Parts: sequence; C-alpha cells; structure tokens
Amino acid sequence: TGETAEAQAKTVPSLDNPLGVFNRYAASIRAVVGVPVIVAARIVEPAMAEAALARGDADLIGMTRALIADPDMPNKAAAGEPDEIRLCTGANEGCIGRLFQGLPIRCVQNPLIGHEEELDTLEPAVIRRRVVVVGGGPGGMEAARVAAERGHDVVLFERTSELGGQVRLAAMAPHRAEYGRAISWLARQIGKLGVDIRLGVEATVDGVLAERPDWVIVATGATPRPPTFPANGGARLTTAEAVLERRIGSEVGPGWRCLVIDEDAHMRGPGAAEALAQTGAQVEIISREMTIGLDIDPTLKPALYRRLFEAGVELTPLTGAVAIDGLSVTVEHVYSGKQRAIDADLVVLALGGEARAELYHALRLAAPELQIERVGDCVAPRQLYDAMLEATRAGRRV
Ligand code: SF4
Repeated sequence: TGETAEAQAKTVPSLDNPLGVFNRYAASIRAVVGVPVIVAARIVEPAMAEAALARGDADLIGMTRALIADPDMPNKAAAGEPDEIRLCTGANEGCIGRLFQGLPIRCVQNPLIGHEEELDTLEPAVIRRRVVVVGGGPGGMEAARVAAERGHDVVLFERTSELGGQVRLAAMAPHRAEYGRAISWLARQIGKLGVDIRLGVEATVDGVLAERPDWVIVATGATPRPPTFPANGGARLTTAEAVLERRIGSEVGPGWRCLVIDEDAHMRGPGAAEALAQTGAQVEIISREMTIGLDIDPTLKPALYRRLFEAGVELTPLTGAVAIDGLSVTVEHVYSGKQRAIDADLVVLALGGEARAELYHALRLAAPELQIERVGDCVAPRQLYDAMLEATRAGRRV
C-alpha cells in the first residue's frame, strides 16, 4: 500500500536506503516459487542490474527512477558508455514524491522530463558564439553543457575550488552523499565537451568582459540569508552551511547544546541538526512551520525523522526566534505569542538563501548592449529542479 507516508517511503525507497534494498527479498521469494521474479528499487545502474541477475536475485530487473533520470540509459549501456549515464540520486523530490502528491512527474537533475515537447531536441548553434558562464553550481554547469553541446565556445568561472554549488553542499549532509550524483554527471559532461573551466576565480565585470563574450549567463547562486531579528551570538553563531562543510570548531561534541533555527523548511536545517547530533551534542531544531522540514518530500521524511528522534534531536515546530543575545535565544510560539529563552552553546541559522545577483546587475550596467541573463538561485533561491530548467533553457537560447 502507498496510503501512508511510512508506506510510501518504503514502496519507493529513497537514498536513505541501501542500494539494491529489496534484492535479498526477491532472492528468497525466487528460491521457493516457480514463476519469474522481478525486483525493483534502488538499482540505479546497469552494472548493478547485471550483478543482481548473475547472483540469481531475480529473473528480471525493474528500473523506474533510473530511467526517469536517464531515459537513454539502455542505449548508453549497450554502447558501452556507462559514464554517460545520468544516475538517479534516489532523492524522490522530482518524480515519485510529486506523483504521490498528484503532480506530474519531473526529474530534479534532468529538466527534459515532463518537458519533452519543448526540450527533446538540441539544435546545433547557427553561429558559434563566445559564452561566459559565471558559477559552477548545477545551473551554471547545465547552461555551459547545453551551450557547449550546441557548438558554442564556453568558459565557466567558479569562485571556489570545486564545482557543484549548493548540490555539493547538500550532499555533505548525513545520508545525502548520493545527491552528489546530480553534479558528477554534469561535471563529466562539461569536461568532455571542452568547456574552459576556471576554478578558484572570482568573476568580476572586468574579468568577464575581458573574455570578449557574445553572451553571458550568470549563475552565481545565493548566500545564506541573514537574520531579520537581532542576533548577537558572536563566535557561537554560525550557519547550517558552515556546519555541513565542517567549518565549525571540532570542539562541538558531548555536553554542547546546539539550537538550529530553521526558516528554510527543507533539508538544510535538519541536515545540520543531524550532523551536530552525530558529534554527541544535544540538539534542538525550531521552525515557524507546522512541522520541521515542511517542504521535504514526504518519502524522505520518515527516515529523516527516525534518525533525528533516535539521535535525541528535539523537534520544535511552530516556534520562531525573535532575538539572539550571547548564549540565550528568545523564541516565541507562532500562535500563542508566548516567549521563552533557550540556552545554547551554538546557534545555527538555516534561514534560506538570498540571491547573489550583484555581478549580474553590474554587468548589465557596464555592458548594456551585451546579451546577459541569469539562472537559478541568483534569480531567486529555489530548488535544484528550478535551476536546471532555467539553465537548460538559457543554454538553448544562445
Ligand atoms: S527526481 Fe531524483 S529520484 Fe527522481 S528520477 Fe530524478 S534523480 Fe531520480
């Protein structure tokens, strides 16, 4: 049955479950029945399917999400090009999660899904243009990939030393490593296509214009949103991003009281809370929403909640922060307005993002005749799917 969140999560197991999670059940059934057995779920690549068949786990393999993420997977496997396959992350956000909510299926990392009529064909460029992409997150990489595949000459600036942007960060949360698959395929593709990737370069107006571009696509992402309430936490005030990147001091551990203030309602706050709980710290997460992680896909919540509760994390919905003063955080109940103080040794802000669009606006001012557009979080911070769709469209417009 798929009638409860718990059952839905088990029917279409997410990345919280091991790969090939149902194989052993299929094998035990196959041992006692005289009819062919099909196994599905968390078999994400052809080699895994072949291995399951070779072991005798099943007679046939069902691969649903794997084929949503990359409908060309069988052709690529047959052609002996496994690296070309865009592997499913198993995060369920774009496909099965939407289906369970009565929405059409999409794929967060493959923007063609659900937009086949618009995006299925990639027209070669009529005129080869010099394209500068600023930002090496998923949006920047997708725009660069599409433009390069169409024959344009593409240079991509990324200010950090690694590609991946917010997805790289998301994959650093506990149990989220597979989310990184959404960027590894893109990184491989832009490498193969000869995109000139310049890591560790902070793009400036002069730097971009020095490339003499015909077209600029800005995908500079977002920065953590600062608090809208008074916040004087000193060194004990940090961000969920810093926690996930392990930039907080290694001293955090048993005996520490950590408070995560979550106004993002997605994975960032709970991910930081889980990472802190793994150090042995005592963790509480508050949110003004009805539930913690309100916007997290329903198929992901049961496993996440189980881990948080098992780790002793206190989940406090309908509660927002109104002030941080030293080690004391004043919070209020959304409906009663009642205020109380929570003492914390570390306060972690997960307040969502703020568009990082300064370069885009500066370029528009400096070169009004130049074709400049922006995609992804630097338009407005949203989810991976939005960035990928905007980026693939931008790459097609060049
Ligand atoms: S949305 Fe996520 S889980 Fe669904 S097919 Fe795409 S990558 Fe896989």
